[in-house]
Amino acid sequence: MAKKVLKFGGTSVGTIDRIQHVARIIEKEHLAGNNVVAIVSAMVGKTNELIKLSNEISDTFNKRELDVLLSSGEQVTSALLAGALIKLNINAKSLLNWQIPILTEGEHSNARIINMNVEKINNYLNEKGVVIIPGFQGISKRAEITTIGRGGSDATAVAVAKILNADTCEIYTDVDGVYSTDPNKIPVAKKIDKISYDEMLELSSLGAKVMQSSAVQTAMMYDIPLEVKSTFTERKGTKIFNQENIDYTKSVTGVAYSKDDAKITLIGVEDKPGVAANIFEPLSKAQINVDMVIQNISSDQKTTDVTFTVKRDDVARTKEILREKGEINYKDIIHNDKVAKVSIVGAGMVSTPGITYKMFRGLSDEGINILAISTSEIKLSVIIDEDNTLNAIKKLHTIFDLD
Ligand code: ASP
Ligand code: MG
Repeated sequence: MAKKVLKFGGTSVGTIDRIQHVARIIEKEHLAGNNVVAIVSAMVGKTNELIKLSNEISDTFNKRELDVLLSSGEQVTSALLAGALIKLNINAKSLLNWQIPILTEGEHSNARIINMNVEKINNYLNEKGVVIIPGFQGISKRAEITTIGRGGSDATAVAVAKILNADTCEIYTDVDGVYSTDPNKIPVAKKIDKISYDEMLELSSLGAKVMQSSAVQTAMMYDIPLEVKSTFTERKGTKIFNQENIDYTKSVTGVAYSKDDAKITLIGVEDKPGVAANIFEPLSKAQINVDMVIQNISSDQKTTDVTFTVKRDDVARTKEILREKGEINYKDIIHNDKVAKVSIVGAGMVSTPGITYKMFRGLSDEGINILAISTSEIKLSVIIDEDNTLNAIKKLHTIFDLD
């Protein structure tokens, strides 16, 4: 008998048929003798729909009321799922966040779960009942309803799994796991059976959005094993856990890419202490996310070039800020907003020599020019012309034996 936390995303509970299907998945676990706590998202599209409604009233809709509004989506699916289980003659009960309670800290729409009382949950599990909890929300110390950020049901699931000391935390979704690259673009992409938290984070921050990144980070911090699997097939999913428990037969686990990147270069920047800080401080204050940064060695000891990447939408604002900031002296500022970042990710990379060269050679064989490079322990990224993205992914997927 195991204690299982099962999380069902928006598509999995998107219609009444699907909710009934989810009820049968839970029924199976329950009849096998497992203690089940299910965390649910709102029906797919619901949260966006509610945000739209609030915007029709005001685009600065009151934050407190927005949380009251948005939390309703998950309340609806919790009750429907509990009702569907009761119809199958299973004892089931929804427990809303204030009833448990799940305590959060921080601002409205961006709160964090800090604690919860497990008594009611455990009591009901002991009575052989199934507990359904709405994801994405909690209550503050002052008993205000809060939400914990978009995609937050994943975070609720991980928090509940941690505090209940659950045996598994399974994330049911509309894909059957994490792939070696985007299966919609590269049909030979393979499902990954096991992946480490770090690799998962790199892959998801690079665009393979399967789970909310901060939820994966929490799971990593507390060593809570996760499994991402499909609600709609019986196939095995992807297990996400600690790196030490993975045997790496391949040095590269996946190839990721991000779209909508842009590259900005400041030419002839004065080479003296404080210059980099002067460039990036105003950008960070303006909430502009800078990704890669490359500074050339200055050959004349006086000036250098600084290249960095930002999201395409931020190019105009970035240039404006740098022009307005009097403290930075440079000759010219240029940009290229038709670039993409392609990365190979793998915890096995550190222990395999020659990966870097192999990647660069592969790209050059395809006639792809590398515009910038950045590396970390488990990731190697290059910036290339956007038009070459697909070719680059295909080539790298092949040469690192992922096809
Ligand atoms: N319903 C919320 C959202 O769409 C939370 C979630 O689904 O995880 O962001
Ligand atoms: Mg989600």
